[in-house]
Amino acid sequence: MPVYNQTQTANCLIGRLEHDRDLLEELTSVARQENIRLARVEAIGAVKCARIGFYDQQKQEYLFHEINEPMEITCLTGNISIKDNEPMVHAHLTLADGAGHAFGGHLAPGTIVFACEFMIQPLQGPDLVRGLDRVTGLPLWRM
Ligand code: ZN
Repeated sequence: MPVYNQTQTANCLIGRLEHDRDLLEELTSVARQENIRLARVEAIGAVKCARIGFYDQQKQEYLFHEINEPMEITCLTGNISIKDNEPMVHAHLTLADGAGHAFGGHLAPGTIVFACEFMIQPLQGPDLVRGLDRVTGLPLWRM
């Protein structure tokens, strides 16, 4: 049975990230600066290079792909919740290369912004706190 909380939206943050910065670090710094504990995140733009993860369900570890070419962020979607008592951004993204081919996965450090417009929509509701889930090996929400 699905588990979920009721939330309400609060004021939305909309902005742009600076050129040459790490995409995940920048989104995380906004969350920490604004003390956002629960939110939805989205972004579009372009990256100079990317590092994206794929979770190997058998080995229970992330495999990382490095893509060393400019690409469009066609979709970044994610959330902010609490891990180790700090706001944590969890985002997945789809990138498209110059031929329109798409790649996607879990956003990892090492994805460098060319240009990026983001929205962070804080939610009012109980904190969602991540803890190790023994079945998947992932830091999932404890609910
Ligand atoms: Zn993920």
